[in-house]
Amino acid sequence: MTEDVVIAGAGPNGLFLACELRLAGVKPVVLERLPEPPSTPKANGLVGRVVQLLDYRGLYQRISGAGKPSPAPGYQFAGFPLELRSLGDHPLYVLPLPQRTLEARLTEYALELGVEIRRGQELVSLSQDEDKVVVETNDGTLETRYLVGADGGHSVVRKQVGIGFPGTSDDSFTSVQGRVLLDPSAFTTGGEIETPDGPVRPFQWHRSPRGAFALAPFEPGVFRVSLLEWGRPAVSEDIPVTLDELRAAVRRVLGRDLPMSLPEDDDPLVWRRRTGSNARQAERYREGRVLLLGDAAHVHPAVGGPGLNLGLQDAVNLGWKLAAEVRGWAPPGLLDTYESERLPLGRRVLLHTQAQMTLLSPGEEVGSVRALFGELLDESVVRQRIAEMLAGADVRYDLTAPAHPLLGRWMPDVPLRADGVTRVAELMRSGRAVLLDFTGAHDGFEHEQVDYVRAETAEPPADAVLIRPDGYVAWAGGDGLTEALGQWFRMSEKV
Ligand SMILES: Cc1cc2nc3c(=O)[nH]c(=O)nc-3n(C[C@H](O)[C@H](O)[C@H](O)COP(=O)(O)OP(=O)(O)OC[C@H]3O[C@@H](n4cnc5c(N)ncnc54)[C@H](O)[C@@H]3O)c2cc1C
Repeated sequence: MTEDVVIAGAGPNGLFLACELRLAGVKPVVLERLPEPPSTPKANGLVGRVVQLLDYRGLYQRISGAGKPSPAPGYQFAGFPLELRSLGDHPLYVLPLPQRTLEARLTEYALELGVEIRRGQELVSLSQDEDKVVVETNDGTLETRYLVGADGGHSVVRKQVGIGFPGTSDDSFTSVQGRVLLDPSAFTTGGEIETPDGPVRPFQWHRSPRGAFALAPFEPGVFRVSLLEWGRPAVSEDIPVTLDELRAAVRRVLGRDLPMSLPEDDDPLVWRRRTGSNARQAERYREGRVLLLGDAAHVHPAVGGPGLNLGLQDAVNLGWKLAAEVRGWAPPGLLDTYESERLPLGRRVLLHTQAQMTLLSPGEEVGSVRALFGELLDESVVRQRIAEMLAGADVRYDLTAPAHPLLGRWMPDVPLRADGVTRVAELMRSGRAVLLDFTGAHDGFEHEQVDYVRAETAEPPADAVLIRPDGYVAWAGGDGLTEALGQWFRMSEKV
């Protein structure tokens, strides 16, 4: 039997892609080498457009238990506070969430949708011809029409198909992280920690002449403490971090002691050390019938937490296009737009994470750049620009249709009056494309791949909007609807 799509890796990106394919009518098989979900802590939250994406699929509600997401009132960039409240409309949304929980919720959702997840199955090699990919695992051989490598930064799939992974590895710094109780005496009445180099605020990197420090209160009284230090001797990542070691690193970086102790429910998995970080991107995201997704396609410093914003949006971009290819209705070249649209976004994340690491590193010359940068961040236009970059919203897909400001952009979550629907996000739950008609000019429209919705709103952004399954605008108002339908969905409208 030949599978339609095999996904190597049940990390967040592989799982989300599997759900997207299922919504689009394709039944993928997910191979995961680990017999059980991993318990190692990775991401602490989602930052950027991805939060709205989860809302558009109805997952925000089941993951967070909350209703509708709102833009964050503030964030940080390289340790600078990023005041966002005064900007009004901006795309930087934040959802604090351990990666373990995200993976558990995505697994539940995938299983509900009927995705087959085969745990304990490791892809060891592959070969492909014009019609299929042959996958060898520790458990046997599979044939599939398409293979997606969502198998993380060390991707076997990427190596097997010979896609290069150029970039840099920076081992000039070490990071340690621990989870501690902090005595309230550590804080001023304003909730800050005083240090010789200025106050330290939670949820924000603090740069000192000796390194950088961050503190995140995830549970009452319990804090995750992270430190970056440059020029320290490298210690193996396998040697456990101790409380005394963390205390000493705090003293070096902050220039003062902190009253720290171990919580009763100490979680040894949170304690970790690393040397340096990698900043690399796959030369291309596709080789024949094999595609790369998530960390398999790009790795970068974790500063600011952009990884899942990038990877999960890769997945939603790829899902409907790959499904269209498998189901036989994809217009020529559709699948290649996965790379042409998403590779530039990966490049942007490499740019801003590396820039942030440079701005956090020690040295007087860095101090001068920071001083200038701090002045620029007083300007709301600069903060808007940075917020859009961190959210992954500063790149517009290059869609060839008559120009409209919305074209190639994320469809905003406009409030609607339509049949049982109150906002755009609710239209996107099914994962199908939508022709949203604000004037009735397209009344009677029917299309195999596109739902028609007649709606009213106070200030329509266009007379009508064609929204792709990934939430991006393929056409807006005016002429050219038939061409846009042909470009993205091939079959022409019935009426
Ligand atoms: C310390 C740390 C903190 C981070 N913080 C954040 C944050 O706050 N916010 C954020 O957005 N991102 C953060 N990230 C990044 C984020 O964790 C990654 O971007 C994310 O895990 C990538 O998901 P993925 O599904 O592409 O790959 P992975 O999570 O690496 O999953 C790949 C899966 O493939 C499996 N696999 C590997 N090889 C094979 C094989 N040959 N066959 C079958 N299965 C295989 C693996 O077992 C794994 O389950 C952080 C990362 C780290 C390390």
